[in-house]
Amino acid sequence: MPRSGSDFWCKEIELQIPSLLELDRWGTRYIDRLPMETYDLIVVGLGAVGSAALCQSALRGARVLGIDRFHPPHELGSSHGETRITRQAIGEGMEFAPLVLRTNVLWRALEAATGQELMVQNGGLMLLDAAGQADSQGAGAAFYRRTADCAKRFGIAHQLLTAAEVRQRFPQFVLENGGEGYLEPGAGFLFPERCVAAQLSLAGANHAEVRTNEIVTEIVTDSAGVVVQTNRSRYGAASVVLTPGPWMAQWARTICGLGEAHFAVYRQTLYWFALQENHPRFSPEQMPVFLWSSVRVEKGFYGFPSLDGVSLKVATEQFDVLSDAGSGPAAVAPEQAQDFYDGRVRVSLRGLTSRCIRATTCLYTVVPDHSFVIDHGVDSERVWFASACSGHGFKHSAAVGEVLAQKALGELPTVDLRPFARQRFKVNI
Ligand SMILES: Cc1cc2nc3c(=O)[nH]c(=O)nc-3n(C[C@H](O)[C@H](O)[C@H](O)COP(=O)(O)OP(=O)(O)OC[C@H]3O[C@@H](n4cnc5c(N)ncnc54)[C@H](O)[C@@H]3O)c2cc1C
Repeated sequence: MPRSGSDFWCKEIELQIPSLLELDRWGTRYIDRLPMETYDLIVVGLGAVGSAALCQSALRGARVLGIDRFHPPHELGSSHGETRITRQAIGEGMEFAPLVLRTNVLWRALEAATGQELMVQNGGLMLLDAAGQADSQGAGAAFYRRTADCAKRFGIAHQLLTAAEVRQRFPQFVLENGGEGYLEPGAGFLFPERCVAAQLSLAGANHAEVRTNEIVTEIVTDSAGVVVQTNRSRYGAASVVLTPGPWMAQWARTICGLGEAHFAVYRQTLYWFALQENHPRFSPEQMPVFLWSSVRVEKGFYGFPSLDGVSLKVATEQFDVLSDAGSGPAAVAPEQAQDFYDGRVRVSLRGLTSRCIRATTCLYTVVPDHSFVIDHGVDSERVWFASACSGHGFKHSAAVGEVLAQKALGELPTVDLRPFARQRFKVNI
């Protein structure tokens, strides 16, 4: 948005603010009438998606404020743990391909602007073992087929490999005959903490303001603008982008027009197992990121090449035990790591020991169809929100942040948001 336009919007809001403050149900009118800082846009939550929205709106010349309850990048939400897989052909659904393709353009632009390495395209290998292959109706097989279909539809470079070809090219994997592999050279991994930090830094360099360790407690809209109340202050804006990650349930009814249960939080565990020896075949040059699909997706797991030459990160997903955003990271018992090793690593990868040298947890926010919800506030188009996780959101996050900034600033979005609208859900769950 041009600077002159944004100045006009701010002035308009300032004039209207007293009417908004009359709405305060706590009766603190004198305090509320104190002058408050006003912005074109306020971004609430500065993780993967919010830092992207802040950065993209600042790059457009908007006067923008970002607020986070902690100091991002941090380890209390969904955007930490060293690496995230990125793929271009998205087995979760065709509607995601435009998001990741746009995001990859944005990562490269961010790298050029900040001098940081954010994305490594060392290839991605999706493996379907013989059991998964035999169960053609299973979730693993379906995901594998959708990935290959998506690659064909969007012209994404890939190769289909037999089990023997997989073993020959990537001897790290124990894939028996009857299994198969989908290899995508443009897949790879991202450095999540660096991505968040780079976007916040570029936003700051483009005059965005950031307030950390400040909690947004209320968002009130009317026709004139939005007032954002925090535990420390209150701010006015023409629009708000709400990207609170695992804390979305608290806004489910007031902003999203959905129920708390639409945003289920599940804690996931990441493990780093020591290599048997410091072997070059585990380096990013020698080994792709991988997703191992079995009969049921839950039985599968995924992993990364070794970044330190000493250990390699692997993980799976669980959707059995609910958690909540405020619960923070959990300790990982040695028996849990041993179970993971015995059940998955020992039988699938060659060259790793059972010594878990690091483990951490991270939170998924999962909507009922495991997709995203990106929409405007239930009562107002001045608020735009995104719950873009379901365990696969990082690879799309820069484009999701960009479309939120575009919608909030009145631009046409780069990517079609209709597949992510809230209307597909029943409200009362
Ligand atoms: C273990 C794990 C593995 C994953 N692997 C992959 C992968 O390989 N590939 C992939 O693409 N995706 C992956 N994902 C998903 C991806 O990481 C998430 O989709 C993404 O990080 C979500 O970002 P977010 O911005 O929605 O949430 P977050 O990054 O958690 O950001 C939310 C922010 O909002 C702030 N906040 C919340 N409430 C308030 C408030 N009231 N006031 C102020 N601030 C507030 C929080 O402090 C936080 O900083 C994985 C996720 C996990 C947990």
